[in-house]
Amino acid sequence: MRKIEMVDLRSQYERLKADIDNAISGVINSTAFIKGPDVHLFEEELQRYLGIRHVIACANGTDALQIAMMALGLKPGDEVITTNFTFIATAEVIELLGLKLVLVEPDINTFNISVGALKKAVTPRTRAIVPVHLFGQCADMEPIMETAREHNLHVIEDVAQANGAEYRFSDGTVRKAGTMGVIGCTSFFPSKNLGCYGDGGALFTDNDDLAALIRSITNHGMKVRYYHDTIGVNSRLDTIQAAILRVKLRHLDAFNEARRTAASHYDNELSAIEGIMTPFRVNNSTHIFHQYTLRVTGGRRNSLRECLENEGIPSMVYYPVPLHMQKAYAHLGYMPADFPVTNNLCDQVLSLPMHTEMDSEQLNYITDCIRSKFK
Ligand SMILES: *Cc1c(COP(=O)(O)O)cnc(C)c1O
Repeated sequence: MRKIEMVDLRSQYERLKADIDNAISGVINSTAFIKGPDVHLFEEELQRYLGIRHVIACANGTDALQIAMMALGLKPGDEVITTNFTFIATAEVIELLGLKLVLVEPDINTFNISVGALKKAVTPRTRAIVPVHLFGQCADMEPIMETAREHNLHVIEDVAQANGAEYRFSDGTVRKAGTMGVIGCTSFFPSKNLGCYGDGGALFTDNDDLAALIRSITNHGMKVRYYHDTIGVNSRLDTIQAAILRVKLRHLDAFNEARRTAASHYDNELSAIEGIMTPFRVNNSTHIFHQYTLRVTGGRRNSLRECLENEGIPSMVYYPVPLHMQKAYAHLGYMPADFPVTNNLCDQVLSLPMHTEMDSEQLNYITDCIRSKFK
């Protein structure tokens, strides 16, 4: 059996090697390392894939979130609501810009921001909501967008874990993750569903003026070289990364399908086990399984993890410490018990190996191991 990895980037590379090597050497031969043609071509191809007017590439997903908040003109003291159950980047940029981070509970089943909790957190100072499509399934965008319209709030989608997921509105309209809010922000970190071979990120928007402003912010706030209209940053996607992403974008739907196939195997083998809850699937979003995350109840999560480790099976806890309990965020003044749902999830979640190259031998080995532990 091939060694089981949390994310098997090597096997995927071996499968795509000819095209990837060709893409990389093409850029090296051209020496157009910064803003080479592949960057713009990748932006256009991703625009077409998403069905959106503008994609602006940048250096990573964290930058994308920061640049989105800069472009929307959010000012110190403005309140930004996000979920307490996410990767730190979502919250970090809010604090970095001097905005007021307002955390709310996730939904216990979907792991995504609770719409009820979100509505209760809106105040007259709220300016934006950042839903995160956690683990590859869309947050419930229809009521989120309705709440935003009602209170005149910006919606910035964090799509880092959901490249290629789709959400269906009640009128039947289907939209790709990241194209529903005013700006979508994503990451091409190697382990993401659409990952490059280093750091990368992008912003999506349908708004022409906002797109121009975002593009200038990524480039030191200039439209004309050496004339700086706004304070910007330096945040670029390397040409080599763009060339790799052009190859991988062509496979994104197949990648996501391969993850779904692995997820179905896990579902079939694990859903009947008492003490294990397989991922909850909503019917208005596809799930692209950035992570396949179980809830292990009855305090048995850590012992299951150890047991898997002893059998050579990696697993991960995303995320072990909720944002409101992180040292750097103590100044927000939250108490441990303020977020019982988040605390519960942090104690229960366990993500199993999930990537595009899982074979049935590996999947059977993993599920057999879990089943024998729970007998
Ligand atoms: C990975 C990730 C980010 C940050 O992306 P980087 O490219 O690593 O900066 C932001 N939000 C979420 C939810 C992520 O998973």
